[in-house]
Amino acid sequence: MDYISTRGGMAPQSFCDILLGGLAPDGGLVVPERYPHIDAATLERWRTLSYPQLAFEIVSRFATDIPAEDVKRLVEAAYTEAQFGSADITPLTRLEDGLYLLELSNGPTLAFKDIAMQLLGQLFEYVLARRGERVNIVGATSGDTGSAAEYAMRGKRGVNVFMLSPHGRMSPFQRAQMFSLADANIHNLAVEGTFDDCQDIVKAINADAAFKAEYKIGAVNSINWGRVVAQVVYYFRAYLAAAPKIGDPVDFVVPSGNFGNICAGHIARQMGLPIGRLVVATNENDVLDEFFRTGNYRVRSSADTLATSSPSMDISKASNLERFVFDLIDRDSEELARLWQEVDRTGGFDLGKTPYFARMVGKFGFASGKSTHQDRIDTIRLAKSRWNRVIDPHTADGVKVALEQRREGVSMVTLETALPAKFETTIVEALGEKPQRPAKFADLEKQPQRFQVVGNDAAAVKKLVVETLAS
Ligand SMILES: *Cc1c(COP(=O)(O)O)cnc(C)c1O
Repeated sequence: MDYISTRGGMAPQSFCDILLGGLAPDGGLVVPERYPHIDAATLERWRTLSYPQLAFEIVSRFATDIPAEDVKRLVEAAYTEAQFGSADITPLTRLEDGLYLLELSNGPTLAFKDIAMQLLGQLFEYVLARRGERVNIVGATSGDTGSAAEYAMRGKRGVNVFMLSPHGRMSPFQRAQMFSLADANIHNLAVEGTFDDCQDIVKAINADAAFKAEYKIGAVNSINWGRVVAQVVYYFRAYLAAAPKIGDPVDFVVPSGNFGNICAGHIARQMGLPIGRLVVATNENDVLDEFFRTGNYRVRSSADTLATSSPSMDISKASNLERFVFDLIDRDSEELARLWQEVDRTGGFDLGKTPYFARMVGKFGFASGKSTHQDRIDTIRLAKSRWNRVIDPHTADGVKVALEQRREGVSMVTLETALPAKFETTIVEALGEKPQRPAKFADLEKQPQRFQVVGNDAAAVKKLVVETLAS
């Protein structure tokens, strides 16, 4: 299986070639040349597989340059009961008839990003060892991505992580989660600025080709193809658990920001999984809802991106959307490049009056909805009273949209993207009491914390990276 760029400017490369990189050299996103097709008989056989066995079947179809026995070992190391709290890894919970919650947040940092990151940690270590290389990951986080990456990469040979976060702006829980890690290869840099400032510094470092090459700078952001592939697995697993029989449609609602999670659902559907609808749920930052309702894609500036009570979805430029649009326009890379030039020039593009618009819903099964702070509060209360279940604010955005868009006779699965323990303030506002916390995090805020404060300046961050690597 070879990989190409959505913008057409990259010679085909293998899975291991593209795994450690971010954007394709032409600024596009990396995609497989074609999607493997899974037929109904194979799906029937997959019904009885364990999570690691299913992950092996799917990942090995995309990572064809890794020997099968190695893929098997890596997925078994990534998906353990010890890390995810149950052998199921992603249990499907029935809320009521036809309505399900797919639990994706029982991993080490209590958000769905663990599922992809845990596999990425194994894959990175494997590929680096095979090639005798090292990588220094420089990333930015507002909370969830950084901790998922650090917990996945801690102690991995050949890997250093430098994670930039906005000094004093994360929740106490998120800060303690990251800063209490004592592993020698994990470096927390608290930047005197905002999350956008952190991201700008990462961009500036990546734009310095000489520095990037000399210090082997790598990325694990949400466009990383390995992360997307890992996420495809749980759509298959949830479908197999929720479909009355193979072939029946199952709808999914996905609380979305960067479009990474739901992009994996799109790929599962393209592989032949009988998903009915893929419903994008946004918060007040509703760029994606607007796109799927009208065909008009209008990115917003960071100044126009609201800070909400589902903060991991406060994104107004959905980086993975390019992968979906590539398929939508029949993989025409010239047209794709033109659309993204239009984004750079005018802040967006409008497919509303093109034939593509009808296909988003028809052929590709997309729908969307949005949710506000009040909706989140109401939905957290409703979930508690109706199902005796405490859900986090992001999952509440999803459940709100699921209740609006469920269809008679079709199972509807909402993806649970975080546990409520990560977002105590909003849970207290809704329910008047703190959410339960998994025992392993009971004294989290009391652990010693390790981080370095650094000025809001790419040069200062580079200097720190260089000094750390030399010491
Ligand atoms: C990252 C994240 C999201 C958004 O996922 P995307 O893949 O960026 O669309 C939603 N909820 C939580 C809790 C997250 O951490």
